[in-house]
Parts: sequence; C-alpha cells; structure tokens
Amino acid sequence: MIYEIKKYGSDILREEAKNVEKIDDEIKTILDNMVETMYETKGVGLAAPQVGISLRMFVCDKGDGVVKKIINPKITPLTNTLTECEEGCLSVPGIYKKVRRPEKIKIEYTNIDGENVTEEVDDFLAIIMQHEYDHLDGILFVDKVSPIAKRMISRKLQAMKKETKKAEEVED
Ligand SMILES: [Zn+2]
Repeated sequence: MIYEIKKYGSDILREEAKNVEKIDDEIKTILDNMVETMYETKGVGLAAPQVGISLRMFVCDKGDGVVKKIINPKITPLTNTLTECEEGCLSVPGIYKKVRRPEKIKIEYTNIDGENVTEEVDDFLAIIMQHEYDHLDGILFVDKVSPIAKRMISRKLQAMKKETKKAEEVED
C-alpha cells in the first residue's frame, strides 16, 4: 500500500513522535508500506510522521537496495567534523538546500525482530539517518539550512504551508 506523504504545513510533521512499544504485525505492515511508498516516490528515506503516523521509526535505502527498518533509534555523533550535503525531502517537494551534519554517527535501534542493534555509519547513509531521525522530533531539514538559504526559500515554504492547510481543511 502506498501512503500519502504529508507535506510542509501539516501539523504532524512538527510533533515529537512516540516510542514504538511493541513490534507487532501492524507495525511490520506499516514499515513494509513505508518501504513501498519510499520506492514509489523515489526517496532514499521515509519517516513514519511523514505518512501521518506519529511513531519513532523510519526506513531507508541509500541506493544499494539494502533496506533498513529502524525502530526507536538513538543517534550519537562520532566526530565533530561536519559534512555538507544537498538535501531534499518528500514532505518539502521542490526544495534542495545544503545542510551540515556530523559525517560519522553511532545509531542504536530496535530491528523488526525486536533485537537491539548498534551500528557505526558514515557518509551518505549517516546523512539520511540523521535527516530521518530529525523527523521523529518534528525537525525538518529546512530548519537547518543557512540563514541566506532560509531567506531564499521562505516565500516558497509559506506558499506550501498555505496550500497544505487548505488541502487538509477540504479533507476534514
Ligand atoms: Zn525528510
């Protein structure tokens, strides 16, 4: 099942998502649907709040076909070195801007078998994971761009927010 992606201006994107308490069939189905939605929309990562589910989990595939399903993650930077990467987001379509993030991280999470996993990740996958992790705290990449970039995109964001609010009103 392909989910509808929540767009900039949707309140759920600004909420702090809740921990996943139990990994049952429902959670597994949601994660499968999220993977399907990610591929359909040609994304490299997708967090649950982006599909209207306020739970701390995300999926990603940096482009090598290796799918990761991450539940209740905790991220710790392993370096002070920041790397700059142009980011985009399925919830903020049409906007691509550079964001600086630590280039190497440790991620601790629960996998779908309920096992605790710790991985050290660097490079593009580390960027994706930090971007998706931010979604779980209601943070979007456009919050982290330079002040100049922020000014450049502010009009576009305002318009997007207005459009999203309008669309959501119609739905209600
Ligand atoms: Zn995103």
